[in-house]
Amino acid sequence: LSAPLYADLPGDVAVSFEFFPPKTEAMEKTLWESVETLTPLAPRFVSVTYGAGGSTRERTHSTVARIARETAIPAAAHLTCVNANRDDIDAIADAYWQAGVRHIVALRGDPPEKGGRFEPRADGYASAAELVAGLKRLHDFEISVSAYPEVHPEAGNLTTDLDAFKAKLDAGATRAITQFFFEPDTFFRFRDQVAAAGIAAEVVPGILPVSNFAQLQRMAVPCGTDVPGWMAHLFAGLDDKPAARQLVAASVAAELCRRLYAGGVRHFHFYTLNRAELAYAICHMLGVRPTVAAAVIRERAA
Ligand code: FAD
Repeated sequence: LSAPLYADLPGDVAVSFEFFPPKTEAMEKTLWESVETLTPLAPRFVSVTYGAGGSTRERTHSTVARIARETAIPAAAHLTCVNANRDDIDAIADAYWQAGVRHIVALRGDPPEKGGRFEPRADGYASAAELVAGLKRLHDFEISVSAYPEVHPEAGNLTTDLDAFKAKLDAGATRAITQFFFEPDTFFRFRDQVAAAGIAAEVVPGILPVSNFAQLQRMAVPCGTDVPGWMAHLFAGLDDKPAARQLVAASVAAELCRRLYAGGVRHFHFYTLNRAELAYAICHMLGVRPTVAAAVIRERAA
């Protein structure tokens, strides 16, 4: 692919950022500093994850509600079907609607135990597609869902996975955000497969800037994401060199984004892990710059 040089990028890139709900005061401070740093980049939306098994129900709500209240950026709440019946989900969704949150990232979710399998409840939703339909019945939310360029680990094959993806869109979702991946061709191949399956919805690549390689290896296995050998090679010997690791991390993610851009991608979703620096640097290289209008952070509640 002949990619344009960074300096030539015409500023037509949209971004979104994913955060997780903080557990401690120190983590809360880091999160809000990151929100303040990234908000001026005018993301299309920012989203907040929902802990495994619904373990962060209150914290996800309070984080999303605070973003909705205090910034001019549309906030999206992740929501899963795990450990909840349909009434629980309705109550959570109603509370978001009342807080002015209009965008849900609807997921099936995984059980909290590592390696455990999702068991649907008789009174709950059995898949993300069912959750999307339930949410749409309740309110006219904008709904994003997941997609898996390397196939979801539980799906028997690509066709089953694409059928599940299509079912989520048929139920009312409008966009998919992908699981993270590291080779541009993984995304392009998936984009072709999606198109061949007759799916026209927007598929936004999920970008994970990696600065902790050991942590990545733990995260990638249950997600079914291939970690290419060249990445292991790039990060080898940098365990006790955090500054060098950050530089390598930014280069790897920026190069992935640049090649995706050259292949026509114009919206990138960043898994920030609540840190702004890498996402900010990569956005900058993609031509995404702060705007005054987006910098408005509404007056903080005392
Ligand atoms: P689904 O789309 O329902 O699919 C799950 C599996 O079931 C797939 O293998 C699919 O092929 C299969 N399937 C679905 N329907 C059928 C059917 N009718 N027949 C046969 N097979 C079927 N997890 C969290 O706990 N909290 C989060 O905040 C969170 N955020 C995420 C954000 C993104 C962008 C992504 C990509 C993942 C996220 N996850 C999160 C992880 C996600 O919950 C897990 O990957 C989970 O295992 C699957 O959820 P899903 O919504 O993709 O499920």
